[in-house]
Amino acid sequence: MSTRQMAIMFDESIQMVDLHTQYRRLKSEIDAAIQSVLNQSAFINGPQVQAFADHLAAYVGVPYVVPCANGTDAIQIALMALGLQAGDEVIVPAFTYIAAAEAVALLGMTPVLVDVDPYTFTINPDKIEHAISRQTKAIIAVHLFGQCADMEPILRIGKKYNLAVIEDNAQSIGATYTFRNGVAKQSGTIGDVGTTSFFPSKPLACYGDGGAMMTSDEQIARQLKIVASHGQSSKYQHQVVGCNSRLDTIQAAILDVKLKYISSFTRKRISIAAEYDRAFVDIEELVTPQVASFSTHVYHQYTLQVKNGKRDALKEYLKQKGIPSMVYYPASLERQPALRGLARKVDHMPVTLQLPDKVLSLPIHTELKEEMVEYMIEHVRNFFS
Ligand SMILES: *Cc1c(COP(=O)(O)O)cnc(C)c1O
Repeated sequence: MSTRQMAIMFDESIQMVDLHTQYRRLKSEIDAAIQSVLNQSAFINGPQVQAFADHLAAYVGVPYVVPCANGTDAIQIALMALGLQAGDEVIVPAFTYIAAAEAVALLGMTPVLVDVDPYTFTINPDKIEHAISRQTKAIIAVHLFGQCADMEPILRIGKKYNLAVIEDNAQSIGATYTFRNGVAKQSGTIGDVGTTSFFPSKPLACYGDGGAMMTSDEQIARQLKIVASHGQSSKYQHQVVGCNSRLDTIQAAILDVKLKYISSFTRKRISIAAEYDRAFVDIEELVTPQVASFSTHVYHQYTLQVKNGKRDALKEYLKQKGIPSMVYYPASLERQPALRGLARKVDHMPVTLQLPDKVLSLPIHTELKEEMVEYMIEHVRNFFS
């Protein structure tokens, strides 16, 4: 079937994310929320910002949420608020989006790259201790693709070496981590600070840029607020050199609407993932995403590993059928020119070395129709038959 025929059949084409259809579905509520900001015209730090922060805090189960301008700022502000200094080292996973390592490097610190687990794609806790030096001051765990990194051993190492623990939760808001004793906590609420992004494609997303930090520690919350607001402890009293990073009032109003639907959005992605899993389980040359025993998965991405060097051929085949797919991520951080000479690695990283050639993420979002999922399944199966 051609893309055009398919477009006729589904009324629209399959996309990696479909922001427009979701907007149309929520239009009356979203439009009203935006209109109320316009009516009040409190465009900076309007009441919607604190209202959303309070609702998000209640949803994830922490006392303090500090909104900011985006998910990268959130990491940078967290590092600054925790008192890290130029010259310090920070442990980061080698296979992830660049933001964590970038924020570390921007502050004159050294990102130390650690290999990831081959099944969950998150930082391998067994590899962390070896990467710790006298300069190490923090670990950034990234909850990649929708599930939590293994936080319990990470917290244990953090405690042992007196390291701050930051969770980059841009992709996994709503995931739950379960400790060995059965205690469960939401992603982003486990370490000293959790950071997140509301970029339009993320699980909780606005219509522009946005981000937030969350913590259970009152002192840290105060410091996050100070750093995000020009280092001000009170108006025109600048305690430290900070930055200017705010969540826009219009975006906060949009997020407050979307937050009400986050559980149903998550359930929808989980049900699509279950369909994919069932359909691909017998395909020898595919590894479907594994759900760790300690975490739920909210499927920000549904990321396959394609064996025998067939990833690019599968991607091209799907493209011919009008099915988009993405390679998250085509290069490890070690291979990013920006970090050359700035990042340090301790060990050989066999998993990180291989993943960029194997991974392929299929469309998984709240607006996929059943026929679209079936169509994608059929063509993935056809490729391997
Ligand atoms: C998107 C993302 C970020 C950055 O968020 P922005 O809001 O785009 O700055 C950071 N970390 C991860 C893992 C992300 O996916």
